Amino acid sequence: MKDFDLLKKLTETPGVPGREERIRELIRAESQDLFDEFRTDAIGNLIAVRRPTRAGRGSAKPRRIMIACHIDEIGFYVKHIDEKGFLRLNPAGGFDTRNLFARKVLVQGRRDVIGVLNPAGRPIHIATDEEKKKVYKVGEFFVDLHLPPAQVTRLVRVGDPVTLIQTTEPVGKAIVGKCMDNRVATFVALGALRKIAKSGSPHEICYVGTVQEEVGLRGAGPATFGIEPDIAIAIDVTLACDTPGVPPEEAVCTFGGGAAIKVMDHASISDRELVDEFLALAEAKKIKHQLEILPLGGTDAAAMQRAMRGHRTITLSVPCRYVHTVTESVHTEDVKATIDLLAAYLQS
Ligand SMILES: [Zn+2]
Repeated sequence: MKDFDLLKKLTETPGVPGREERIRELIRAESQDLFDEFRTDAIGNLIAVRRPTRAGRGSAKPRRIMIACHIDEIGFYVKHIDEKGFLRLNPAGGFDTRNLFARKVLVQGRRDVIGVLNPAGRPIHIATDEEKKKVYKVGEFFVDLHLPPAQVTRLVRVGDPVTLIQTTEPVGKAIVGKCMDNRVATFVALGALRKIAKSGSPHEICYVGTVQEEVGLRGAGPATFGIEPDIAIAIDVTLACDTPGVPPEEAVCTFGGGAAIKVMDHASISDRELVDEFLALAEAKKIKHQLEILPLGGTDAAAMQRAMRGHRTITLSVPCRYVHTVTESVHTEDVKATIDLLAAYLQS
């Protein structure tokens, strides 16, 4: 895939909700040439503005378009350090703890320290039947830094962020790694802006790298107040459960089936005209697409839609398999289709 290196950097950079400094700086550095103005608001959203670069055609009025891509990732904060130097964690975002056994983690302390994550208890050889069946809570996991306690307390303190370690790799037609949810969104937004860089857009485009989405859409609302957009688009991943063990009517999306135009999820219903507009564009430009209804979960669209006096919003989704694991997978053709569809809209 073109620009794979950028997606790799975006997904491998740590940024738990509320501690998005590193990912924010990376995005800023990687997109200097695309925007006229950068600012970071008080809650930490990165706002990058690209002013209109050409006059509109026909009667269509130029608009201010906000594109929200949450930049946080599910992770942890150090909650407690015991006398042996083991760390206990508080979750920031919704982990399925069945996927947390035997992981390597990055503790962002006075310097970065690698640790090993496992649940408290006996290994399989000596576990009781009861223990073998148990589903552990995040609070029952601990991090082993393999360092003497005195050194641990010099390096780490309560409140330090912890993220899973996973390198991003191409696998078949997919790209696989941690936090495709939601760094792939920023990859899509920057890709679309790069695509229209030459031809320009009649609209003012505000990319917003929103913070703290995974703990309850906290960043997008305040950002919307600061921007007052005419149109607000959230880019996020959605479920592609077209895999064994899930009936087809619950698949939500098809992996490789193209950009998903969201009709509704648990938190927002997309603007009717925007859904029609995106559908018509996808058909006219022959961009692979599908319609999406997600029964549970939500995106920044919900926060933008309800901010101030309300906004016209829609979510464009990238289908993703194995969401909230370290094997989050996106199909290269779906990523490309979402870039193409967003670029087409920004030029229309
Ligand atoms: Zn997300």
